Amino acid sequence: MAELLVLAEHRMGELREITFEMLSKGRSMAEGNGLDLTVVLLGHGADGFANKLSGYADRVLVMDHPDYADFNAEAYQQALSRIISERKPRVTLLGHTSFGVDLAPALAVELGTPLATDCIDINIEEGKVLVTRQIYGGKLNVEASLREADSHIVTVRPATFEAEEPRPEKGEIVKIKPPATVAVEQKRFIEYVEPPPGEVDIAEADVLVSIGRGIKDEKNLPLIQELARALKGEVGCSRPIVDKNWLPKDRQVGSSGKTVKPKLYIAAGISGSFQHVMGMKGAELIVAINKDPKAPIFRIADYGVVDDIFKILPALTQKIQELKKPTG
Ligand code: FAD
Repeated sequence: MAELLVLAEHRMGELREITFEMLSKGRSMAEGNGLDLTVVLLGHGADGFANKLSGYADRVLVMDHPDYADFNAEAYQQALSRIISERKPRVTLLGHTSFGVDLAPALAVELGTPLATDCIDINIEEGKVLVTRQIYGGKLNVEASLREADSHIVTVRPATFEAEEPRPEKGEIVKIKPPATVAVEQKRFIEYVEPPPGEVDIAEADVLVSIGRGIKDEKNLPLIQELARALKGEVGCSRPIVDKNWLPKDRQVGSSGKTVKPKLYIAAGISGSFQHVMGMKGAELIVAINKDPKAPIFRIADYGVVDDIFKILPALTQKIQELKKPTG
C-alpha cells in the first residue's frame, strides 16, 4: 500500500512534540487518501520510543545504529534516502526544526524530489500534493502545488497541528538493517549545549505571561515578573520590548521570535499584531488584558479583560497569591 512517512525527532532521550504534531496531520492525510502512515525512527537502543510511536502510526520502521543516537544530518540523510528510494512514499514529513532544516534540502537534492519547507498545511487533492506557506512575514498565505513526482518532501512548522492522543490499536514495529557502515565524513555530533543558567526556553513553559509595549517603561517589568512567579510561569514579550533591550531576545514570542504552545498564555498590553499572534496562537488558553476593546488580540483570546494593566496585573497577582495560601 502507498505510504506517508513521518520522521520521528528525538533529543536528549525524549521524543519531540513536532513528531506527534506531524503524526496527527499525517493520520488525517493518510486516511483521506488511502495511504498507510509509517513513522521512521532512527536511533540507538530506542525500543521505548518505538513502542510509544506504534500507538500513532500503522507502522514504525526502526533503524538502530550508534551513529543515530543523536541527530546527524549526514547519517540521517543516508538512512532516509535509502528508505525513500525503496519505499517511494507519496509524502515524507520532516519537522521544520533545526534538524529538518539541516536535513531536508540535501535529501531532496540527492533524491531529485520536490521539496516544500516551513509549511502550515499539506493536503493531497486529485493526486496533487498541495502545501500552504506564509510569505511577507506572515501577511499572506500561499497555496502551492508541488511538481508531480513519485515522492515529495515537506517540512512542517512546529506548533501548527494539534498532537492527538495515541490509538488503542498499535501499529507494527519493523526493524530494518542499518547500512553496514555509516559513512559520516562532514558532520560529527559533539554535545548538546544547555543555555547558560538562568536562561529559560519559553517554548517549553506551561504558563507564559507576556508583556508588550503597554508596560511603558522598563522599571514596570516587576509587575509582570511577579505575576509569572505567582503562576509558576515564565515571562515572554512582544518584539518592541526586546528592541528596547528590556528583555533578552530569547523571550520574544512571534514570527521572528519563538513559537510557543503553553497551557495558559496571558498577553498583557500587547496589541496582537499578526507577527506576534503567529507565535502564540497555538496556546491552549489565551487571556488578553488591554485597555483598547478593539485591540486585535481579543479576536483570538478565550478571555479578555478590557482595562488598564497597571490596575489588573497587581490585583491578579495578589488574588493568585491569596488563593495559594494554605487555608485553615
Ligand atoms: P503595540 O502594537 O504598540 O501595542 C501595545 C498595546 O498595549 C496596545 O494595544 C495598547 O492598547 C495596549 N496598552 C497600552 N497601554 C496599556 C495599559 N496601560 N493597559 C492595557 N493596555 C495597554 N512582534 C512580535 O511581538 N513578535 C515578533 O516575532 C515580531 N516579528 C516581526 C517581524 C517583522 C518582519 C516585522 C516587520 C515586525 C515584527 N513584529 C513582531 C512587530 C509587530 O509588527 C508589532 O509591532 C509588535 O508585535 C507590537 O508589539 P506590542 O503589541 O507590544 O505593541
